[in-house]
Amino acid sequence: MTLLARTGLAAALVLGSAATARPAPELPRPDDGYFQETVKVAPGVWLLMEPKFVPQPIGNVTVIEQADGLVLIDAGGSPGSARRIVHAIKGLSPKPVKAVVITHWHGDHPQGLSEVLKVWPRARTIATRATQAHLRTDSTMNTPAAPDMAANAAFQKRIQDFLPYVRRMGAEAKTPGEKAGWAATERLLHQYARDMDGAVTLPVSEGFEDRLDLPDAKAPVEIHFLGRANTDGDAVAWLPKQKILITGDIVVAPIPFGFGGYPADWIETLGKVEAYDFKVLIPGHGAPQRDRAYVGKVRAALTDVRAQVAPLAASGLALKDVQAKVDVERQARPFVGDDPWLRRWFVDDWLSPIVASAYKEAKGQPIVQSLRGE
Ligand SMILES: [Zn+2]
Repeated sequence: MTLLARTGLAAALVLGSAATARPAPELPRPDDGYFQETVKVAPGVWLLMEPKFVPQPIGNVTVIEQADGLVLIDAGGSPGSARRIVHAIKGLSPKPVKAVVITHWHGDHPQGLSEVLKVWPRARTIATRATQAHLRTDSTMNTPAAPDMAANAAFQKRIQDFLPYVRRMGAEAKTPGEKAGWAATERLLHQYARDMDGAVTLPVSEGFEDRLDLPDAKAPVEIHFLGRANTDGDAVAWLPKQKILITGDIVVAPIPFGFGGYPADWIETLGKVEAYDFKVLIPGHGAPQRDRAYVGKVRAALTDVRAQVAPLAASGLALKDVQAKVDVERQARPFVGDDPWLRRWFVDDWLSPIVASAYKEAKGQPIVQSLRGE
């Protein structure tokens, strides 16, 4: 997901005050965590990841070297991030990208595809059928299917309109960590505006139902759909020889993303994730994991949300009253401890939306995939 498309801040974006022209904005510093770094996970397998949590993230991109080309799992969150990803990939291997698997529709994963395909136009593009459908619809994607100057200008204006809110939050912040967080957010939004200039959402040509294989002698890749979780079409990639599982946003660290998630199904899907004999789990955001501790933490959080929300929903409370009664401390502490900056985003990215989903589940209402997680 992206900040513009997923958080309560989306409303602030739409309602924000008029843009203020500012020459030469300050761009992200290396330690802001916005720019992806390359991590070698195994021979022929690399991860391009942001080194820490940022409010407007770029999804992890995994690069897998096969005999006749490279397989990418996800394509970056914007044309700009994809240009950096292409540059990094060329430094890893002279082979062409032969296939790109998009794990799910949230914009921080597919919106770099257009730039990847400019460089490697013959690459196969693959997703579950559900994700393939979302990438074709206006209700989910906030970038057009073809270059559209008006849509681009409108999107750029939304980013500019959001900046006064970010500055105000920084000015009002009580702790140095929060002040630093908002200052870094302003810098990364300037970069994000540049990165998203001219963004389009391209369709994915191959959809699959349960499984699709990309065979290779040394690094075969199996793409699986395990069930609904973070979205209704999350794909995972399994490298049986390397024992690496790439989960997309079914697993996101340090803060899970809850928008449009399906709590009951998500718990089951995490059970299937845990059943893989993996040595390394590559989440949709965050560093490679070498045990099941974090997956267990996410599952416990989902189980707790359902347990908290069900009786409140059954008692007839409105969603906003249920939101107010949920035990934030119990949910947040295992993930973010006392850090107020991360706690803010834990509530925004995880707790509020997953409570909304659990409420719908308890009421028997459908969970609809949309930009606002409605
Ligand atoms: Zn993501």
